[in-house]
Amino acid sequence: MGVKSAARRAAAGAVSGLRLSSLISRAFGGRAAILAYHRVLDPALHDPDLVEPGLFVTRDSFAAHLELLARKYHVVPLETLVRRLLTGEEVARGTVVLTFDDGWLDTCQTAFPLLQRAGLPASIFVPTALIGTRHRFWFSRAGEAGARLWTLANQARDNGPALPPELAFAAALLRARLSRPAFVHRLLQACKDVSPTQRDGVVDRLEEAAGAPARPSRELVDWDELRRLAANVFEVGSHTASHVILTEVDAALAKVELEESRRTIAEQLGRPAVSLCYPNGDYNEGVRRLAKSCGFACALTTRAGFADPPLDLHALPRLGVHQGVAAKASGLELLLSGLFS
Ligand SMILES: [Zn+2]
Repeated sequence: MGVKSAARRAAAGAVSGLRLSSLISRAFGGRAAILAYHRVLDPALHDPDLVEPGLFVTRDSFAAHLELLARKYHVVPLETLVRRLLTGEEVARGTVVLTFDDGWLDTCQTAFPLLQRAGLPASIFVPTALIGTRHRFWFSRAGEAGARLWTLANQARDNGPALPPELAFAAALLRARLSRPAFVHRLLQACKDVSPTQRDGVVDRLEEAAGAPARPSRELVDWDELRRLAANVFEVGSHTASHVILTEVDAALAKVELEESRRTIAEQLGRPAVSLCYPNGDYNEGVRRLAKSCGFACALTTRAGFADPPLDLHALPRLGVHQGVAAKASGLELLLSGLFS
């Protein structure tokens, strides 16, 4: 966690009772922003302990965000913001766009009904080749395996499960006798530090040591669900075909990934994707130009920033929203005030 986010958390916690966040927001006004969400977890369906803290908000937190946004901000579709940026129209303070990355099933199951009830629009960015499959991102597999390892170790009378040498880091964390969420969090951090080429192998070893679920549940939406979202409050944009990191592959493959995802969305939903979200937020000048030449009207990054013009439409900044910074609506209000950025 950075100093700024620590300060933000401390401030959000300290001032929420005093409604100071509302005063700050009134004094400074909410700035225009594109909010980046990943998962919205209903604790009745998911165990938040298994998910990286920076990757989710709970259903209750999200409901509180929507109540605040509907009451005090102007939530517009991404297309509306892009049109205003293109035409030089004023982007009013308090303009907010909601986005969801990756096509998680919980975007459909948990976030969508709340958005529909609030009548607020949003965009979802999907890796088209993974939609409707049982694909699981490495951090989902590692989080679940970590929780099982922790349980095995804590139930054991002896030293717990024997781990192979390549999982020495996990053994050291088990010996530290951390709480279950702290262990899973530290384990995910350690896996992040493993080189991407070796990471899948390490996660395979974790699953072998912990016992992988026989039939893991589906984590991503399917096309029928996306059609239902697209017929309602959601715009469906591209997150490439296979969630490839565009800066790590050659230009030819990057082009195939972008074109294929655009074509698949048009075939499946009857209209082409107008927007792209770079996986991991990673882009460079070549990737940016490619996004433009493939016909995307805009492309979103994970670079933190507000949507104040002038902006490069193919490198739009966003504000990441997760439980660590916005468990309460006051946290989101502080984030949008721009006071800590
Ligand atoms: Zn992603």
